[in-house]
Amino acid sequence: MRTLFVVLMGFSLWGVAEPLVDVAEHIPSAVIELRYAREDNFLGRALYPPGARCLLRKSVAKRLSRVAERLSKEGVRLKLWDCYRPLAVQKEMWKLFPRPGFVANPQTGSHHNRGAAVDLTLANAEGIELEMPTPFDEFSPRARQGAREGISKAAIHNRDKLKAAMELEGFVANRKEWWHFEAEDARRFKMLEQAPLAKEPSFSAIIFRGGVLKVAGCSAFFWRRRFC
Ligand SMILES: [Zn+2]
Repeated sequence: MRTLFVVLMGFSLWGVAEPLVDVAEHIPSAVIELRYAREDNFLGRALYPPGARCLLRKSVAKRLSRVAERLSKEGVRLKLWDCYRPLAVQKEMWKLFPRPGFVANPQTGSHHNRGAAVDLTLANAEGIELEMPTPFDEFSPRARQGAREGISKAAIHNRDKLKAAMELEGFVANRKEWWHFEAEDARRFKMLEQAPLAKEPSFSAIIFRGGVLKVAGCSAFFWRRRFC
């Protein structure tokens, strides 16, 4: 019994069981536009279910809320493009675009799969994106941190502002993608195969229509099985 208690304490101390939380609830000012829930991403198809939320580990969401708070004093908001990414989606991405350095091999995974990485940019008070060196997921030399060639002064300023604000709260920048940051302690979290991105439907949402079972709310579970 004592052993079990120590093991449970260990899990809790290391945060392995730390829940994923909905960032929209933690950072109401954030603009959330999950690009993998839409077709305008580099894969040209939606990989997330309708109603997908931006989920992060609780402590990572707290870090991000402090970044948002600091930037809000300058009238700047965070715009989030990707948060927790199910490992199952990572496998699908790798199948479609197996290019190491840009898409993580699911064998090793991405910190997105741990709920400890975020893809984001800056927006003004109205939610309009600030100028940055490249669009999201443009895998070019201009997307590198520190790149200057062919990039406007305003874009360099905004990119560096984002990096500085994120680093102050313990996020580590990706060298090849100015938009990607991960919590410095990301490795302590387990990769999660398929936590529900969309809210699970309640029983009342599952109805019989014309003798066929229909699911009104579309959870990741049902979506993956093409039931909705
Ligand atoms: Zn990323």
